[in-house]
Amino acid sequence: MKLMEQVKMEQEIVIYIMLILIGALLSLGLCVYAGFRLRHAPGGIYYILMTFMASVFGFAYLFELTSPSLEQIAFWLRIEYIPLPFIPVFALLMSLAYVGRKLKSWVYYVLFLIPMSTTIIQATNEEHHLYYTSMKLRADAPFPIVQLEHGPYFHVHSIFLYGCMAASVVVLLLELRKVSNRFRLQILLMVAGLSIPVFAGFLYIGGSSPYGIDLGPVYLSVSFVVQSIALLRYQMFDAVPIARDLVFENMKEGILVLNERDVVTDYNASMPDVIPALTPLAVGQPIHQLVAGEERLAEIFRQARECDYEILRDGGKLHYHIRFYPVQRKKGSAAGTIISFVNMTDRIELERRLMYLASTDDLTQLLNRATLLKRSEQAMHELSCQGGELSVVMFDIDKFKQVNDTYGHGAGDTALQYAAAAARDVLRDKGFAGRYGGDEFILCMPNACRQEAAELAERIRRKVAEARLTEGSSQIRITSSFGVASVRVGTGDYSQLMHALIQQADLALYAAKKMGRNCVQVYGEMTSADVM
Ligand code: GH3
Ligand code: MG
Repeated sequence: MKLMEQVKMEQEIVIYIMLILIGALLSLGLCVYAGFRLRHAPGGIYYILMTFMASVFGFAYLFELTSPSLEQIAFWLRIEYIPLPFIPVFALLMSLAYVGRKLKSWVYYVLFLIPMSTTIIQATNEEHHLYYTSMKLRADAPFPIVQLEHGPYFHVHSIFLYGCMAASVVVLLLELRKVSNRFRLQILLMVAGLSIPVFAGFLYIGGSSPYGIDLGPVYLSVSFVVQSIALLRYQMFDAVPIARDLVFENMKEGILVLNERDVVTDYNASMPDVIPALTPLAVGQPIHQLVAGEERLAEIFRQARECDYEILRDGGKLHYHIRFYPVQRKKGSAAGTIISFVNMTDRIELERRLMYLASTDDLTQLLNRATLLKRSEQAMHELSCQGGELSVVMFDIDKFKQVNDTYGHGAGDTALQYAAAAARDVLRDKGFAGRYGGDEFILCMPNACRQEAAELAERIRRKVAEARLTEGSSQIRITSSFGVASVRVGTGDYSQLMHALIQQADLALYAAKKMGRNCVQVYGEMTSADVM
């Protein structure tokens, strides 16, 4: 062999040795890392064992490649066969655990029995030659490298090895159909990871690697890197096991799952309604980053306390009740948080509607008597500190009985509705109006003096008097009379004060009726002290 050629080959072998060393170190690194990060996750323990076995295999292979004699090579081959046959078993168990499947116990025995016998048969090959029919140093290599002729049991080992790897891939691929979109990418990455050593293995068996050097440890470590991306980037093992995915997905409540570092690990189909940033790419990202633009939500996640949350969507308001459920591992350490978003919109709308109905007069849509009194007392309470003035206007339709008698009850109702609408239009935000009973209305105006109240009453009076209501072919004209009373609010019993104020407004209204109706009368000003 020419010198140049030999130097080139020696350089090549150094590169292979370096690659195998890097592969073994990488496997060991991933094993240690997974030991910290994935040991509690379903299937995580098998990943740790698999990477550990692969690194032992890699180091033993390095020693084999650098051994000077056939004897030493045979020794390191035996060491390699302690971890090697178990690697595919752990890959299969990892895939099964991830999809939440369990095997019958006898299958587990078989799964471990075959690699155990491989280890024993390989180690005792000298006795029976079932594994290698011949083992000698290659004549064509510039350094001691073994040439092996395989016996029948080697094929059992190979079939089992590739069978396990293929089964792992099938288990994951079968799950693809059942899962929601965001799980697919991580499953496909895992499948890609598991497929790498299978393809590499075929190359080795096909004899295309130089001097028959097995680059298995290198491919294995590349495979682990791809798997670790699936595991860590997508928090594969942290997620809720896929077997429960269907139930989870179809829940009406929005469910968000965060890990102990507040990274999104899962969410169901109802969640993007609440947080549109929850797309499949959001898995693996910290929740604070995703809601950074929405201050209220960011605050809710920071505080992690039960609360209500409102959002505007398509012009309407949606109401959610948010609950946080911390998840702990068996040993008590924090594993993350499950957050539920219950859509309360229908219930809150119903409550609002009931509240409205309970507080409103059906015919006029003004406040009913009880609510009017309650709100007036509240207004007095609020005014009491600054000693503000509160005015009450009481008004009544003139000769309303006649309207009913002449045009019918329906026409009477229309007249009541018109008077109520006129009062509401003129009053606007200066106070609130209610139907006190029959054809009597009361307006309550906090922070308005009797002068202002009287002016407002006058505007309503005119508006009512100008109305031309039609009933069939007839036109109805109505008028109304007003009584105004005011009080400077101090401390005291506001129910009593309101009662007294209404009495005074009623007296003023009575005076207006006496004056010939269709006018406004004001009761003389009084203070809380006058009434108590
Ligand atoms: P006055 O000018 O003195 O107020 O005379 P009036 O005829 O208006 O007398 P009063 O205020 O006592 O009459 C109230 C009438 O209102 C009696 C009742 O038949 C009628 N009324 C009460 N509630 C309703 C209602 O919901 N619809 C209709 N159409 N009429 C009602
Ligand atoms: Mg009347």
